[in-house]
Amino acid sequence: MKVGIVSYEPVAVKGFDPHIYYVKRADGMVFPPAENMYNDITCFCDAKAIRSNPNIVAVSKDGPALRQNRRVNLPWDYVCPTNEVYMDKVLGFISEIAAKEVEGVILNLYHFPEEGFCVCSRCVELWRQSGLNWMEWRTQTVTKFIEEASERAKGRRFAVEIWPDPVLSKERFGIDFAQLAAYIDFFHVPLSANDYTTMYWVDMLTRIFTKILKKPVFIELSAELLDYVKLNALLRTMAYVSRHEIEGILLLVHSSGDAEKIRDYAIENKEMQQWFERHKFSKMTQIIEEWKTLY
Ligand SMILES: [Zn+2]
Repeated sequence: MKVGIVSYEPVAVKGFDPHIYYVKRADGMVFPPAENMYNDITCFCDAKAIRSNPNIVAVSKDGPALRQNRRVNLPWDYVCPTNEVYMDKVLGFISEIAAKEVEGVILNLYHFPEEGFCVCSRCVELWRQSGLNWMEWRTQTVTKFIEEASERAKGRRFAVEIWPDPVLSKERFGIDFAQLAAYIDFFHVPLSANDYTTMYWVDMLTRIFTKILKKPVFIELSAELLDYVKLNALLRTMAYVSRHEIEGILLLVHSSGDAEKIRDYAIENKEMQQWFERHKFSKMTQIIEEWKTLY
């Protein structure tokens, strides 16, 4: 099992692999690519692009896909995913990143914002022309984008993040896990939380996703702003997750310093190590033993 990090800093931390760096973010900020790392690209959420051209936003009968629109419950501002000009920009960016010495490309927010989106005149016209039912048309739109993106990322490892809804992702976002699996090397599944003091749902979703996804699975856990209670809960949650058929765990940290803190705390915490050994969390024991060799 691997333990990697997801961060906003292109700084590698010893003992973690892979390293995933947010190169294009939901606020619209774009950064230079990080070499020898996975570069994570936010596709259709781009607050900055929407601010400069409000016409590109995805729309529903309850209004636009904007955080400020309280009739829809969305965490980001979404561009309509059939806007060709914007889409070409994203695809061009993927080509640009893949041409650098990067380890791989991961896409997130490459789908429709929610059920009911998008009913802009272009989307409705494209749907009519397709002859498909609404759900199939949306799904085909997303799958085609991922197919094209995978071509642009050729020669690099390629993966997608998914919203952690195992049941309704097709209806809500146009995401068909089986279709996307054909184009990717692995699924990156964020199970974000402020802390994991209650964690049965993490275990449950990991169990479900490792059963239904037909490609290797990385589970992402939030590891920001940790005090010792949260740190202990995180390490125990990692242990339970490690018992499933996963490729690895990814820790979302703000900076490389946060990752070092987790690693060093695990190395020093004898009680936790004994608990892992007593309950046969052998993958955790192995990881901590590897971390110890770094010193
Ligand atoms: Zn649209």
